[in-house]
Amino acid sequence: MRPFVYRNPTKLIFGDQSLHHITAEAEKYGKKVLLVYGGGSIKRNGLYNEVLELLGQAGCSVFELAGVEPNPRLSTVHRGADIIRQEGIDWVLAVGGGSTLDCAKAIAAAAKYDGNFWDIVTKKATVQSALPLGTVLTLAATGSEMNSNSVITNEETEEKHGWASPHVYPAFSILDAKWTASAPKDHTVYGIVDMMAHVFEQYFHHDARTPVQDGFSESILRAVVETAPHLVNDLTNVQYRETILYCGTMALNGTLSMGILGDWANHDMEHAVSAVYDIPHGGGLAILFPNWMTYVLDDNVARFRQFAVNVFGIREDGRSDREIAEAGIQALRDFWNSIGAPSRLSDYNIDASRLEEMADKTVGGSTRGHFRKLTKEDVVNIYRLSL
Ligand code: NAP
Ligand code: FE
Repeated sequence: MRPFVYRNPTKLIFGDQSLHHITAEAEKYGKKVLLVYGGGSIKRNGLYNEVLELLGQAGCSVFELAGVEPNPRLSTVHRGADIIRQEGIDWVLAVGGGSTLDCAKAIAAAAKYDGNFWDIVTKKATVQSALPLGTVLTLAATGSEMNSNSVITNEETEEKHGWASPHVYPAFSILDAKWTASAPKDHTVYGIVDMMAHVFEQYFHHDARTPVQDGFSESILRAVVETAPHLVNDLTNVQYRETILYCGTMALNGTLSMGILGDWANHDMEHAVSAVYDIPHGGGLAILFPNWMTYVLDDNVARFRQFAVNVFGIREDGRSDREIAEAGIQALRDFWNSIGAPSRLSDYNIDASRLEEMADKTVGGSTRGHFRKLTKEDVVNIYRLSL
């Protein structure tokens, strides 16, 4: 195993009726709160009213930043930070999906940074401090509720990048599957793909002897593969929602990456696609990941064979290791197709015209990933396989 330091300070408050914890948590962080949310789903499912009621019981004055976009934008981050400075706000509460949480992390840090927050996203500067952040998650997908990551889009330059800081771990995150039950089928599926992709980014490595990490990863993947087909046919079933919600958090809260070096090239390739075409993150990953797998398979057939056998239960049936590994990748394609995920860039009307440009954005003059260090040419090849 590689040496590692692990610390995750987020207080996870999970399960039925957990929303009520907001009042006690709010009392710790101050009277003036900025409520950050998206395009209105929390008003339609009643969560908004409940949150306001509970914050009222804590004696909070609530200021609002509404309308955070899927693929949250730099201008929205600056708008939120301006409200915080003008109103002397004490802490931030994000209520929504990963986009809202990521935007709120950036706002909490931008409020303490004099300058263009893009400096932080592009690693020209680092976060020195941030306002406390609490979250109420409404979509199982990103793991943002229990990690220090955030992904922001610069709409002017058509760039989308992740950044991270220990200062933006949520102080608390409330997860009640009931509030995820109104998510429509398409976003439910994108979330399922995203959490599986997070496991893949940490599972496909060349390190020897990582049986504990492998077991955690395979267990999450099997739970998703078993549960997702039921959930997409029964979207309001809170028990299925709960399993998926827990999988999403565990897939990207640091547990799986202990002692291993993650890959993350597929996330970088997807960010370049959604920066240019503004498509849903999980949709992009569903298209790219199986093609990356096929492209890099021969670098470590044994790893893909293990995936095929332990996640999809592929049997030997007299086949070679490589054939078993290929059957695992095909099983993943079939599984994602079966739950309604997209499989080709053309599903989003994306043609070959900007592949080079997206590949440049992906590699940034260098290479991406560790399982195989992808060059610009490799990225173009994977995009072509995905057309
Ligand atoms: P999202 O962009 O937050 O939400 C997608 C859509 O789902 C929105 O239209 C939202 O509507 C709707 N929605 C969410 N919850 C709902 C509910 N309970 N009922 C009805 N509609 C609901 O989706 P996401 O996949 O969670 O986040 C994607 C972003 O996260 C991307 O920018 C991606 O790059 C980033 N990401 C972050 C990390 C990380 O570690 N931080 C990891 C992977 C990806 P409303 O806007 O109306 O609420
Ligand atoms: Fe992701």
